[in-house]
Amino acid sequence: MTDTLAPSSMAQTASQAYRSALAVIESVEPRIAEATRAELADQRSSLKLIASENYASPAVLLTMGTWFSDKYAEGTVGHRFYAGCQNVDTVESLAAEHARELFGAEYAYAQPHSGIDANLVAFWAILANRVELPALAEHGVKGINDLSEQDWEELRKKFGNQRALGMSLDAGGHLTHGFRPNISGKMFHQRSYGTDPETQLLDYDAVRRTAKEFKPLVLIAGYSAYPRRVNFAKMAEIADEVGATLMVDMAHFAGLVAGKVFTGEDNPVPYADIVTTTTHKSLRGPRGGLVLATKEYADSVDRGCPMVLGGPLSHVMAAKAVALAEARTPEFQTYAQQVADNAKSLADGFLRRGAKLVTGGTDNHIVLLDVTGFGLTGRQAESALLDAGIVTNRNSVPNDPNGAWYTSGVRFGTPALTTRGFGADEFDRVAELTVNVLKNTTPTTTAAGAPGKAKYHLADGVVQATKAASAELLGKHPLYPGLEL
Ligand SMILES: *Cc1c(COP(=O)(O)O)cnc(C)c1O
Repeated sequence: MTDTLAPSSMAQTASQAYRSALAVIESVEPRIAEATRAELADQRSSLKLIASENYASPAVLLTMGTWFSDKYAEGTVGHRFYAGCQNVDTVESLAAEHARELFGAEYAYAQPHSGIDANLVAFWAILANRVELPALAEHGVKGINDLSEQDWEELRKKFGNQRALGMSLDAGGHLTHGFRPNISGKMFHQRSYGTDPETQLLDYDAVRRTAKEFKPLVLIAGYSAYPRRVNFAKMAEIADEVGATLMVDMAHFAGLVAGKVFTGEDNPVPYADIVTTTTHKSLRGPRGGLVLATKEYADSVDRGCPMVLGGPLSHVMAAKAVALAEARTPEFQTYAQQVADNAKSLADGFLRRGAKLVTGGTDNHIVLLDVTGFGLTGRQAESALLDAGIVTNRNSVPNDPNGAWYTSGVRFGTPALTTRGFGADEFDRVAELTVNVLKNTTPTTTAAGAPGKAKYHLADGVVQATKAASAELLGKHPLYPGLEL
């Protein structure tokens, strides 16, 4: 025995912790203990290529299961509406400090419960800075409570009458960037920018033209399904030209920023007024969100709770601090670089086997496969792959002929399997298995004899052979090695 915490002794310690925790849970509700064990077994045995998912470390996961969950802590560090928040203050300060240092941000807010919540905080902060404060000045009053009913009515109209410009959904944008199923689509008049019809790459000149014509209060950059980097210096230039606030939602690629794969103009933090993110995607932390901002926006961001957020989840903020401490290590930088290298390998593997990719490749962690060449819809491809144990999700491609429900694409991401230790060779094998499944999938024809959009047929033996091949790959790279329940 050595006194260092070698991975194996850590795994033993974590095993003991989980076994004890499950025994405690079992004594109250055995079915939850059972479901928890089953979830680990499922995660261990699936080839997870969902671009927004990852596997957090036992340290991050264990941090969430404590009595910090029991504490109310509305307000901000040192200014709480509840007594006895000194330990929550320690936790929140540390999470914010790690976030500021890791990302080089002037200000960080660790309370958002998710990425959507982080965006809500950002939108309200922008409205507060750009609409509310000027309106208050105009009326010569100090605070919103000093407005007359009539002034307040006028301000409300201005709040609800602002413009936002974000990336279109079929080009890879997110619902929270001003689209109707999300409140942002009701808060803002929205217009979208897309990608070049030929190259499928972001067309900065088109963004500029639309921005000049539309004059948005906020220009939103960031994506969920665009397989390329964005030049944030160019986006900032456009925002400046039209007097817009630049908000970047790096929910998907925060891990690549933290791991210093995205530097210079690929890093949004030096260029944006406000940056939002999730903490559970490529950043590999607990399920949650963060807002980074310039000093100018800090006070407005701080009003997030109770403006749009419920009481802070102190146990999750503690886990964010642990995850951010992990993300500043050289090991995390190696991980992030491997995530990007693996995406290249996956993309090359597809291209070499004749498949078509949106934008023709990748330079982040996402690969977007256009499945029309296989004669399938995204929905058929997603289902057939799932039958064969390959977990992905269907996604629109630019100007998708099959619409947002059936789609023509399948999105792949490398963060989760890279955490398991998959390298370039394994991702090439994933491409091979995927192409083989899709080549052996045929759409079931409709009554009229045309190919249907949902149902399909998989050739005999493909499911079994693919599952066996995946099991071999997964067996070589176990999830949470040494963790025994
Ligand atoms: C995932 C995602 C979100 C939403 O995050 P949740 O934690 O699910 O609320 C927001 N924006 C982008 C760009 C995302 O990819």
